[in-house]
Amino acid sequence: MTASDTVETLLRLQDIDREIQKRKEALRSLTPEVEAAEARVDEVRRELEEARSELQEAQAEQRADQRSVKAGRETLQRLKERAEQVQDMKQHQAVRSELSTARRNLNEAEEAALQSMERVEDARKSVAELEEELAEAEEVYRERRQAVEDRRRELEEELERHRDLRDDRAGVLDDDLVRLYEEVRKGKTDDVLAPLSGSHCGHCFTMIPPQRRNEIRSGQRLYRCEGCGVILHPPDAAED
Ligand SMILES: [Zn+2]
Repeated sequence: MTASDTVETLLRLQDIDREIQKRKEALRSLTPEVEAAEARVDEVRRELEEARSELQEAQAEQRADQRSVKAGRETLQRLKERAEQVQDMKQHQAVRSELSTARRNLNEAEEAALQSMERVEDARKSVAELEEELAEAEEVYRERRQAVEDRRRELEEELERHRDLRDDRAGVLDDDLVRLYEEVRKGKTDDVLAPLSGSHCGHCFTMIPPQRRNEIRSGQRLYRCEGCGVILHPPDAAED
């Protein structure tokens, strides 16, 4: 295997590893998408529960107010009947005073009944809206979960293919070279290889001594950059 074949194989390996990395990151980013949709469903469900208990409270209040109105009307009716039967001025004044109190009470009860009716209407509207929202949120969640499952399967298949491809590529290289490649890859840079850029490392721009540059250019030897540790290759190898 010639030096330029070796460089080419290492570059291919680097490409494959980048593709593998991209897919691993994509896989990791899938879960939060589903979790966000699921959290939304939980949130709307909680809001709906609150709205339903508000509706129950409002309906109980409305029933109590309606009973008050009914009782108020009965009291008023009774007092009116009594007013027709009074015998003297003193009794007449007493009933009049009771009548005016009863009318005031009935007015207040009717006002309260009106308000509790509005409260029930508002609560009903909220419940209906939230039921709709919940259905939508559940639909989004189902769709997203399905999409993510499909995408996950796709990514896993692609990963599998790239791993096979990688094994094939690495298989033709000397063990020493594969070890070197792995060592650089585990280092602090994302790049394993970089081209010479003039008299500098194409990755970190550290100056490369002339003798080494010549050996790299002519494909005699592979060197690692002393600055960043990448494997340096001739400038045109990356363009193949
Ligand atoms: Zn460098």
